[in-house]
Amino acid sequence: MPASQPDPAERAAELREILDRASHEYYVLDRPTMSDQEYDQRFRELQQLEAEYPELATADSPTRRVGAAAASALAKHVHLAPMLSLGNAFDDDELREWEERLVRIGGDDVRRSGYTAELKIDGAAVALTFVDGVFTIGATRGNGTVGEEVTANLRTVRDIPLRLRGEDHPPRLEIRGEVYMPFDGFERLNEDRARAGQPVFANPRNAAAGALRQLDPAVTAARPLRFFAYAVAVPEGAPPPARTQWETLELLDGWGLQVAPHRRRCQSLDEVISWASEVEHRVRGVLNFAIDGGVAKVDQLSVQDDLGVVGGREPRWAIARKFAPDIAVTRLLDIGVNVGRTGSLNPFAVLEPVEIGGATVRLATLHNEALIQQKDLRVGDWVQVKRAGEVIPQVIAPLPERRPGSSSGEELLEPWRMPDHCPVCGTAVRRDDEEAAVYCPNVACPGRRLEGLVHFASRDALDIRGLSHARLQQLLDSGLVTTAADLFELEPSQLVELERMGEKSARNLVEAIDASRAQPLSRLIFGLGIRHVGAAAAQLLAREFGTLGALRSLATVGEDVEEGADASEDAIADGATGSTSPRAAAIERIQAIRGLGEVIARSVVDYFSDPSSRPFLDSLERNGVALVEPRQAEGSNLLRGSTVVITGTLPRMSRAEATEAIESAGGRVTSSVSRATTFVVAGADAGSKLARATELGVRVIDEDELDRILEGRTDTSAPING
Ligand code: NAD
Repeated sequence: MPASQPDPAERAAELREILDRASHEYYVLDRPTMSDQEYDQRFRELQQLEAEYPELATADSPTRRVGAAAASALAKHVHLAPMLSLGNAFDDDELREWEERLVRIGGDDVRRSGYTAELKIDGAAVALTFVDGVFTIGATRGNGTVGEEVTANLRTVRDIPLRLRGEDHPPRLEIRGEVYMPFDGFERLNEDRARAGQPVFANPRNAAAGALRQLDPAVTAARPLRFFAYAVAVPEGAPPPARTQWETLELLDGWGLQVAPHRRRCQSLDEVISWASEVEHRVRGVLNFAIDGGVAKVDQLSVQDDLGVVGGREPRWAIARKFAPDIAVTRLLDIGVNVGRTGSLNPFAVLEPVEIGGATVRLATLHNEALIQQKDLRVGDWVQVKRAGEVIPQVIAPLPERRPGSSSGEELLEPWRMPDHCPVCGTAVRRDDEEAAVYCPNVACPGRRLEGLVHFASRDALDIRGLSHARLQQLLDSGLVTTAADLFELEPSQLVELERMGEKSARNLVEAIDASRAQPLSRLIFGLGIRHVGAAAAQLLAREFGTLGALRSLATVGEDVEEGADASEDAIADGATGSTSPRAAAIERIQAIRGLGEVIARSVVDYFSDPSSRPFLDSLERNGVALVEPRQAEGSNLLRGSTVVITGTLPRMSRAEATEAIESAGGRVTSSVSRATTFVVAGADAGSKLARATELGVRVIDEDELDRILEGRTDTSAPING
């Protein structure tokens, strides 16, 4: 054999090793080191080698297996029937070849059956077992036969119903589908991680798969996961609930599951082909979740059964039409820096305009300085850029071999550094090493001001309609507004002087601002834009303190020790006891709130202690803005220290709603009844938990009683454990 032709046996062994390693990194570690295209190419090469030299095919070849064996501390779950992978078609000709193969095996029935075409969601496959309509076990696909049991994690995914709607479901069934992370949630998660100095996820698929396999469901719950259902399996011998794939999707929809949009019932393969082209070129760019292709399935389930499975790995009756990657190569012209509302300096890439998936990309996010250094991005580099859906494009990596001077070993491009002065106001920047962040400390920085106002008026804060980015810039430029408190003093007569502002819009805007005075305190605290204080932390603070005044009184304590701040910080850091300073005491007081840590506590005290915050806060108080936290302020303590178990079906609230209501009143919901259980909320068909509660003498209440407790109409301070 000539030296240039590798020995097929050696090449096959090499490919198997490469693919095995890549699968482990992809499925088990959720950290791929190879692109999907590269993986697919090598997979194809191995398939072709094995087809040409059948003696080389081994039973454990990646071409015969699904996924990778799980290697975690999670319990294992054996699937009702194997969860398979899908064969791929990389172009329309391969789709036609697929149909020809099907017709050779299944005859004309295949064409008569037609196809159902669905989006191929790029997430992680899971199987959900429902017994008598109740979600009981959830598992990952794993190696297709055995997956990992992640029921508690899947219960936190809000698209997964804990009970199916309707009555017409088989007593035992498995619903299969894909857990995914929408782009907007993925972006927010990565921003938070970058800010906290944690590594960012490569893509939403890895972020979703990683979130699913967490050992602590609270970590999963904090990740924005969603679910699309696409298949139903029933135990062998049980009658199938539908006759076609299309009907299956309709059933799932009727049972209260989410089914992916843009599906189509196609009479012919030509229809599938035109659907796929439409999805690739028009639909894909506007979705808020990742797809890596479309799936065509023979519609009649009886024809599917006749066609069967290939090599134990792929159903013959379905195929994935994979799309071209949404990645392009272009030049990094510059690295710009924005100033965020908390003063953080956020680098972004200025790119030579490039077309990706039908849109022109000019800018891409770079998150933070550490990320740029990790990737060694330099201005002038050729870079790979990814654009997925509507999200801000991302720079994946530079192409070092195309870097000017790379062939001669010369370093012509300089490594990038964060500026040491704020690009907007020129103040010397500060570094927060813990957070890998660089920020402008000047609270009056115009860059920070504008972003701060945008945040104050945003949907999760005071939600003031009509205050767009451009409008706020205009208000700042005109001098009518300097801080958010000035918004509340605006008169329609002042506003009509502005460009693009008629009398009616001016009146509407003043009314919208006026209405926002009544927003709860938690939204105001969030809107203040205190570093590290997100919506959840703001809610905890609002519930604990109840009024802005009570929270502010901490700041007064902080100011007493302004000069001694460093010393008191040391006192906390060393864990030293003795004469605790008022500042240290305030930090400790906030840290004692469940869910808030030291970083947030320090940041809150810093904010309220800063003398420059005082006139602004005074002005807000004078203007009567959100001074109290309604309802929750009283409700918060009602179930503090209580442990509650919910069992059976409640007449009005779903399990998730009841849990949320109990938790927001300070209670804890657990799944098993013990002597420590404060009370059990029982609905229809309550079983063993109710019996156990009666046996232990634990108080049992119904939903009406729970309502009364949540509304404070029942005294829970009296011992109710009997
Ligand atoms: P796949 O992702 O190509 O297709 C099968 C899967 O598609 C199913 O298991 C299901 O989870 C999913 N799916 C999404 N929407 C669906 C729908 N509407 N109907 C049915 N199924 C749907 O196959 P796979 O076995 O999960 O993974 C193989 C692929 O993973 C490779 O082609 C490669 O792209 C990627 N991979 C990459 C690496 C790497 O290192 N980059 C390593 C291993 C695998």
